[in-house]
This record gives sequence, C-alpha cells and structure tokens, in this order.
Amino acid sequence: MTEVLDHWIAGGPDAGTSDRTGPVYDPALGEVARQVRYGSAADVDRAVAVAKEAFASWGETSIARRQQVLFGFRELLNARKDELAAILTSEHGKVLSDAAGEVARGLEVVEFACAMPQLAKGAFSQNVSTDVDVYSVKEPLGVVGIISPFNFPAMVPMWFFPIAIACGNTVVLKPSEKDPSVANWMAALLAEAGLPDGVFNVVHGDKEAVDALLVNPDVASVSFVGSTPIARYVYETGTAHGKRVQALGGAKNHMLVLPDADLDLVADSAVNAGFGSAGERCMAISVVVAVEPVADELIDKIRDRMGKLVTGDGRRSCDMGPLITREHRDKVAGYLDVAAADGATVVVDGREVEVDGAAEGFWLGPTLIDRVPTTSTVYTDEIFGPVLSVVRVASYADGVALINAGPYGNGTAIFTNDGGAARRFQREVEVGMVGINVPIPVPVAYHSFGGWKASIFGDAKAYGPQGVEFFTREKAITSRWLDPSHGGLNLGFPQHT
Ligand code: NAD
Repeated sequence: MTEVLDHWIAGGPDAGTSDRTGPVYDPALGEVARQVRYGSAADVDRAVAVAKEAFASWGETSIARRQQVLFGFRELLNARKDELAAILTSEHGKVLSDAAGEVARGLEVVEFACAMPQLAKGAFSQNVSTDVDVYSVKEPLGVVGIISPFNFPAMVPMWFFPIAIACGNTVVLKPSEKDPSVANWMAALLAEAGLPDGVFNVVHGDKEAVDALLVNPDVASVSFVGSTPIARYVYETGTAHGKRVQALGGAKNHMLVLPDADLDLVADSAVNAGFGSAGERCMAISVVVAVEPVADELIDKIRDRMGKLVTGDGRRSCDMGPLITREHRDKVAGYLDVAAADGATVVVDGREVEVDGAAEGFWLGPTLIDRVPTTSTVYTDEIFGPVLSVVRVASYADGVALINAGPYGNGTAIFTNDGGAARRFQREVEVGMVGINVPIPVPVAYHSFGGWKASIFGDAKAYGPQGVEFFTREKAITSRWLDPSHGGLNLGFPQHT
C-alpha cells in the first residue's frame, strides 16, 4: 500500500473529506514515493475555522510566551535540520548541501521573528494636547493563508509563518503538492515546541484548496509565492475578496558582465547561480549579458567549469540533482530544440549528460546556449531549469536597457571592478534585488525579500520589516484621563491646546 500524506489540522494528521490524491515523486529515482491528499473546499473551511478558534487565545497570548515557542522551535530545528534536509532532498531532488542551505536561510527568519517583542513595538507621543496621549499598537490580523511553491518547500513557508505566528496570527498553509512532506514535519516540530493546537495548520492540494482560501471570509491575508500567472490570479482574487495579499511571482534574472570584471569570479558565479538547485530557483541567473569583448573568453571559462559538475542523486555527493517532474524536465529540454531553431548556438547540451543516479530520474544536465536572440522564447520565458543563456551586447547602456525592458524585476547582478559603474547600475536598474559582484542577492532576514514589476503583486515584500508590517495592523489610540475636577461641554472640533 502506498503511503498517503494527510493534512495537519488542529494539532495532528487529518485525512479530510476528499478522496482526491496526487503522486509525490522521488525525482532522482523517477518513482512515486507516496500520495498526498488534495483538500476540498470543506477541508480548507474546517482548517480556517480551527485556526479562527485558536486565534481567540493565541492572539491574546503574551508576546513573551509566543517568543518562547519560537525559541523552542529554533532550537529543535537547529538540532534536527539534517533530518529536514533529507526529506527535502528526497522529494525535491536538490543536493543535500543545498537543502541544508535552504533550511539555514529559513532558520534565519525564525531567529528574526524571535525578536518580535522589539520589532512589533508601537509608538507613544505624550501630551500631544493638554493631558492627551496618542499611541499606536500593532495587532495581529487573525487567520492568515500561505501558499507556497515547490522549489523551496521549507524556506518559503518559513519566510512567512514564523513572523505571522510571532505577531499573534494563526496560519493555514497550502504547500506545493509536488514536495509536501516537509510542511507536516515542520508542523509536528512546532507542536513539539509548544505551539498550541490549531495555530499552525496544513491543507494539501491544488487549485481547489487555493481557491477556497482566497474566498473564505475568515482568512484575513494571503501570502503567495509561485509563478507569475498564478501570483496575479491570487492577488486579484484575494483582494477582490477583501484580503491583504502579497503575491511573489516568477523571474528571469540577468547577470551583467562588464569588460573589466574578474572573469574567473564571473564564471564561478554564473555556474553557481545558473545550475545550483538545477536552476529551479527564483533567484537563479538564467541570462549572462556579456558586454563585448568578454563573451568568448567567459564562455570558455564557464564551459570548463561545467565539465567538472556531477549531475546525479542529491543523496550522493553530486553537484546538481534532477528536475522536479518528468513533465517539467521534458519541457525544459524542449527549449534546446527551440534554441537551435531560433539560430542560437548550443555550447553544452544537457541532454547528453552522464548521471550518477538511476536511469529513470528526471535528469537534464547543465546547458549553455550562446547568442540567444532576445525574441526567442529561450530568452523571454522563465525556463526554470539548468539552462544558462548568453546574450552579447556592445555596451553597459545596452545591457541595462535590455534588463529594464524585461517584464520581471526579481533579481540581477553586475560584475565589474568599477565602483562608479556598479553604483550607476544599482541606481538605474529596475529590479528589486541587486547584487554587486554577488550573483544571488537574497537579502538576509532583517531586510525584506521581493522583486519589482511582474515578480510581485501587492505592496509588501516577504519577511524583514515589511513582513512584520504585513502580518499586523496598526491601531492608533488617543487617550485622555480626566481629572475628576474637569467638566463642561464643548462641541468644537478637537484642537491642540
Ligand atoms: P506554481 O505557480 O505552479 O505553484 C505555486 C502554488 O500555487 C502551489 O502551491 C500550487 O499548488 C498553486 N497553484 C498552481 N496552479 C494553480 C492554479 N491554477 N490556481 C491556484 N493555485 C495554483 O509555481 P511552482 O511551479 O510551484 O514554483 C515555481 C515558480 O515559483 C517559478 O515561477 C518561480 O520563479 C516562482 N518563485 C518565485 C519566488 C519569488 O520569491 N519571487 C520564490 C520561489 C519561487
């Protein structure tokens, strides 16, 4: 009998009401590892009702107590992070060291949220008028929904739930159906850390579960991360139902290489950022924009490094794992035919890779394509695989214009030894996260994460100060304690006296 992964509602596994399930693969083996339940609207509504009931007490729980639960979760997660990384690798496919890195970046947000007593302090203005004080406090929203993608099944939920919970909210998480097990593992760990039942719930599933979250009147906010078309849909539907929504979408990240750059550093960075996690990162570099005359020399250096990469089962000491599903692998590989048809030069063809893993795994080796026309879908689509394109330009200005003409604005990087050029790039580029000689500029937990343009819908980025703002609403109080001797009527508009 195949194992079936349940939802997690009210502090424990829950089979829900629907008999729909979907397969969860071990992508390095190319086999179905288990099934996951696909929640119905009724399952979502019940989880929301449970979370609403839990909010009545969690929202009133002292900040100190909430902080203690998070400290406990941090300690447990730190002690058992290898266990989480192993589950993650078995369902996502990324190599173990990369999975450990993902968990570490999630832990950072947990540690940030442990400082909530400091972060969520309000403001106080004394004696704004005679005997009148004004102060503002940050209150939780209530039940918050989180919908996450397959590529960071541990880190992306941790971008949101530690902050949401620390602020006093209760959570319903709808993880990706492609690698759902880590969500239940984290739910169990939160319970072990002392989080009361019902504060953190997981409903698995697909569009049906997402839609139910978007329309449920008791869901106050939705935090979404995924592809741009779904991010737009989630934003439009959620806001139409009166919710606060932050929806982070897809990306096509460019690395601009100026002729004065250290080309060994650039080649290392391009390979790391292009092929890490098989290119299934929203901050992956997928386009190298080479300002001539550097392209030929840089391509040689990148190709040399690619020859040393081992593609295979992430549980062995490989550099790059499989793609998430066979369907996705075939779609990504299809861009190689498009590249040839569109007149680009395939420098390294990942279909020819020799793998250190089972033959049935969803493999595609690192791929390098030169002279990609900017009209080709190889350039315009978010491929989300180990495919690095090179576009050659004549000048810095042409490179920036190309980047700014794209629909996305998630991440970008410039490689140069010219501080003035780097500073100008930082100012002129229309992208939300910028690296200067850093290929994957994911901000640390105490800055916020988010792109611009079609990479985000809504005005709050993830985690950091904007995360605290998103998961709280401010209340301003104007207070006067009357002296018993005070009296009299005055119907005039209040003035400062
Ligand atoms: P996806 O959009 O297919 O799925 C994301 C979530 O939406 C999943 O939980 C999924 O079940 C749900 N979903 C899918 N189709 C839906 C539909 N029609 N209606 C309602 N819900 C639906 O994304 P994915 O393939 O899981 O993840 C990869 C994408 O996520 C890439 O585009 C990547 O760039 C993006 N991403 C962005 C960021 C960022 O911070 N901007 C971070 C990670 C991933």
